[in-house]
Amino acid sequence: MPMLNRTRHLQRLLRFLAPYRLLLGAAIGAVLVSALLALLIPLLFRDVVNAAFVDGNAAALNRAALLLIGVLVVRAVSSAVETYLLHRVSEQMTADVRVHLFEHLLRLSLPFFDNAQSGELVSRLTNDIATIQQGLTTSITALVLHTLRLVGAVLILFWLNWRLAVLVLLVMPLVGLITRLSGRVLRRESEAIQHHLAEATAVATETLANMRLVQAFGREAYARERFVASVQKTVQAALRRARMLALLTPTVGMLFMVAFVVVAWFAGRQALSGALTVGDVFAFFFYASLMSGSVNTLAGVYGAFQQTVGAAQRLFALLDTPPMIADTPNAQTLPPLRGEICFEHVSFAYNAQTPVLCDISLRIAPGEVVALVGPSGAGKTTLANLVLRLYEPTAGRILIDGYDIRTVTLASLRQQMALVPQDTILFAATVRENIRYGRLDATDAEVEAAAKAAYAHEFIMALPNGYETPVGERGVKLSGGQRQRIALARAILRDPRILILDEATSSLDSESETAIQQALARFLPGRTTILIAHRLSTVRIAHRILVMDGGRIVEEGDHATLLAKNGLYARLYRRQHANE
Ligand code: ADP
Repeated sequence: MPMLNRTRHLQRLLRFLAPYRLLLGAAIGAVLVSALLALLIPLLFRDVVNAAFVDGNAAALNRAALLLIGVLVVRAVSSAVETYLLHRVSEQMTADVRVHLFEHLLRLSLPFFDNAQSGELVSRLTNDIATIQQGLTTSITALVLHTLRLVGAVLILFWLNWRLAVLVLLVMPLVGLITRLSGRVLRRESEAIQHHLAEATAVATETLANMRLVQAFGREAYARERFVASVQKTVQAALRRARMLALLTPTVGMLFMVAFVVVAWFAGRQALSGALTVGDVFAFFFYASLMSGSVNTLAGVYGAFQQTVGAAQRLFALLDTPPMIADTPNAQTLPPLRGEICFEHVSFAYNAQTPVLCDISLRIAPGEVVALVGPSGAGKTTLANLVLRLYEPTAGRILIDGYDIRTVTLASLRQQMALVPQDTILFAATVRENIRYGRLDATDAEVEAAAKAAYAHEFIMALPNGYETPVGERGVKLSGGQRQRIALARAILRDPRILILDEATSSLDSESETAIQQALARFLPGRTTILIAHRLSTVRIAHRILVMDGGRIVEEGDHATLLAKNGLYARLYRRQHANE
C-alpha cells in the first residue's frame, strides 16, 4: 500500500479519537511517567547494591531502599491510571466506530446488499473494528512507552560502560532476529492448522445441519471422506509445527543463554579490571533486558499497525460507499396519501445485461386491490420493490398520488406502506415486539387489537408466555401460517395506505389460510393493495388481475374475463387445478 494512503488512513482513524483527546492525553502522560520511572529503577537498584557491597554504608542502604520503594509505588499508581484511561478511551472509541458503521450500513440501498455477503459485513463490524481498537490505543501507547524506554536504556547503558554497551548492541539484535524468525515460522504453521480445522468444522456444520439430505441420499461415506481429508490435513500441519517446535525452542533458548554468558563474561572482565562495580553489573543487566523487551514490543507494534491500516482500509471503503437511493436535498414530505400508484413507462434491471421489467405503464386507483400473477421470475416481486423504492427504475417514473417517488423523503413514503413478505422473518424478540415492529409507539392494547384482526390472538395466547413468548431464531418454532399471521398483524398495526402482500409460496395449514383470507377481507377495503399471488386461489379478493410474463404485463382483467381469454392466465389456472 502506498505510504501516502497509509498515512491518510491513519489520520482518518485518529479522527475517531478526537472526542477523547483529553483522556488520551492524560493516559499518555501516565505512560510517560511510568516509562521514566521504569528507567530509574535499575539505577536505584544499583545504589542499593553498591551501598551494601561497595560502600558498606547502612544509612545509605536504608535511604536507597526507601527511595526505590517510593518510586515503585508511584509507578504502580501511574500504571493503574494509564490502564484504566486507555481502556476507557479504547472501548468508547470502538463503540463509536461500530455504531457509525452500523448506521451507515442501515442507510445503504438494497442493490448494495445484493452484491455483499452479510458474513463479510459482520466481520467488518467485529474483527476489523477489534483490530483497529488494538491498533489505535494499545499500539500507540506501546509505541510511546517503548521508544522512550529503548532510547533511555541505550543512553544509560553507554553511560554505565560503553564497551559493554557496544557488545550488548551487537549481540542483542542477532538474538532478537532469530527469535522473531522462529516465531514467524511457527505462526505460519499455526495458521495452517487453524485453516484446516476451520475447513473440517465447515464440513461438519454443513453435514449436521443437512442430515436429512445426507441420509436420504445415502451420502454418509462422502461426508466422511470430506471430513477425514480436512482432519488429516490438520494433523499434518500440526506435526510440521511440532517438528519445528522441537527444533527451534531449545535452539533459540540456548542461543539466548549463550549470548547472556558472553555478556556476563565480558562484564566480569570489566569488573576485574575495576571499570564496573557489582551494582553497575546489576543495573547493566536490568537495562539490557528492558531494552530487549522494548525492541520486541516495538517489532510487534509495527505488525499491529500494518494490520490496523489494512482493517482501516476495509472500513473506509465501506464507509465511503454512498447509498444509491437517498433523499434528494430538497425532498418533500409526502402528505397523507389517498393511495394512487402510477407506473409511467417503467423499465428496470438488477444488472445492465438482463432487463427485468420492460416499459410498464399502469395505474392503480386508490383503494384498489390488484393481484399480480405470472410464472416465477416474471418480475412480480421486482415491481413491488420499485413501489417501495427499494430499487430505482432504470427508465420511466413512478408516481404516488401524483408525486414522483424520487422527489419525496424515503421515510414519509415508506411510513405509509406496509410489506407482508413471502416468508416471514421474525426477529429474535417476543411476539409483542415482533408485531410492534410495525409501529413502535403502539400501545399493548393496539398490538393485541392488531393480532386479533389478523386472527393471531388465539394461537398467541396458547403460546407458553402468550405475547411475551420469544420467537425468532432462538425462540419457539411457529408454523409458516402462524408467522404469516404475525406479519399481517404487524402490517395491520402500521395502518398503511398502501399494502404490499407477497403471498407465501409454500401452502399454509388450512386454519391459517382461512384466517388470513378473513383478516384480509376486513383489512383491505380502502387500502391500495398489490397482492403477489402464487396460488391463484387467492386472487378472488382482487378487483383486477395483472398477468406478468418476462417483465411485461401481458393480460389484465378479472378472473372470468381472463379465463375466457384462454391465454397465459387460463393456462396457469388449468395447470394449478389439474390435480384437484
Ligand atoms: P417473481 O416475483 O415474478 O418470481 P422476481 O421479480 O423475483 O420475479 O424476479 C424477476 C427476475 O429478476 C428474475 O429473473 C430474477 O432472477 C431476477 N432477480 C430478482 N431479484 C434479483 C436480485 N436481487 N438481483 C439480481 N437479479 C434478481
